[in-house]
Amino acid sequence: MTCIVMKFGGTSVADIGCIHNVARHIKREVDDGHDVAVVVSAMAGTTDQLISWAREAGAMQGAREYDTVIASGEQITAGLLSIALQNMGVNTRSWLGWQIPILTDSAHGTARIKNIDGTSLIKGFKQRQVAVIAGFQGLTSDERLTTLGRGGSDTSAIAIAAAIKADRCDIYTDVDGVYTTDPRIEPKARRLSKIAFEEMLEMASLGAKVLQVRSVELAMLHKVRTFVRSSFAVPNAAGMKDSINSPGTLICDEEEIVEQQVVTGIAFAKDEAQISLRRLADKPGISAAIFGPLAEENINVDMIVQNISEHGAKTDMTFTVPSIDHNKAVKILEKNRKEIKYDALQSESGLAKVSVIGIGMRSHAGVAATAFRALAEKGINIRAITTSEIKISILIDSVYTELAVRTLHSLYCLDKN
Ligand code: ASP
Ligand code: MG
Repeated sequence: MTCIVMKFGGTSVADIGCIHNVARHIKREVDDGHDVAVVVSAMAGTTDQLISWAREAGAMQGAREYDTVIASGEQITAGLLSIALQNMGVNTRSWLGWQIPILTDSAHGTARIKNIDGTSLIKGFKQRQVAVIAGFQGLTSDERLTTLGRGGSDTSAIAIAAAIKADRCDIYTDVDGVYTTDPRIEPKARRLSKIAFEEMLEMASLGAKVLQVRSVELAMLHKVRTFVRSSFAVPNAAGMKDSINSPGTLICDEEEIVEQQVVTGIAFAKDEAQISLRRLADKPGISAAIFGPLAEENINVDMIVQNISEHGAKTDMTFTVPSIDHNKAVKILEKNRKEIKYDALQSESGLAKVSVIGIGMRSHAGVAATAFRALAEKGINIRAITTSEIKISILIDSVYTELAVRTLHSLYCLDKN
């Protein structure tokens, strides 16, 4: 018998009609004899609404009550879906985070899962009971509700799959898989049938919005085979069996991928800002003085480039932050100017980071060189470059994002025929 976790995102449970459709997907798996745990998000738009109510209610002391408010969206969906399933003759019950329990740390608003006790869920399977679990929520050791950050139901689903040792985790969403790049920017983008955990982690971290980054980290750590597929493939009249007309994308160990391409996908993130600190002292402790205070304020720094200093005395440091954190970062750096001792601070927003990703790059030379040449031919100026074993990221002016993505997509033969 196979044990599967099925996760449905907000657009898949947007209204009662959608919830009935989801219930049919679940019944199909139950009828096939699988043990099924379901994880649901809040109905589309609900979490946004809850957040704005919480803000309207007044200034908050910490995020404890914020979590109490915004965790509630998933409770509604879990209950509604259980009702729909029961009416289809499926034995089921709803579970909230605290009932399982899903234990987290106490970083309210962005909590991390520490432990999940899968015992009650497994007990339910023995009685052929489907578990419908509210995603996104957890409980601290002092019994306060927490949430896992936006998009956190993905992480709930994969963490639960790991805890109950599920054979696979199916993430149902409004797209039918992971694409070589965003099809809205490049209509020639192709759905990948498989992608390696590491590549998916890069794709998600570098801008592809299919899955929450943390969920991919967990899938990689626990080797949870994860499918991304569409919930909108409507079950046909003949029955449920072939209702999945799209097989989706499997995120798996690289060993499972037989035909590895050099480049698997192109990710991009608009809304990046660049900050340069000029003529810093080139001595131990300076990087710590710059990035320590930024990290304390939860500012995500990326693409750090430090110049080699000519006379061994002064150097320049350039890095990027998300545009929303631009002003905050500049303020922090100005406040710490005495400790950092820079001569000038220059910054600019309206930039984009475009990344070429593929584990095949490990064994292929010259991938970066061809990318730079192709971009040069289009007259795109590169402001900064960072690389790892399996990715190359370049920083460019935002207006060139589409052109750069399309150029690289066709350069690495990712275009569909
Ligand atoms: N409902 C939460 C959100 O909108 C969690 C999720 O959908 O995964 O971010
Ligand atoms: Mg989501």
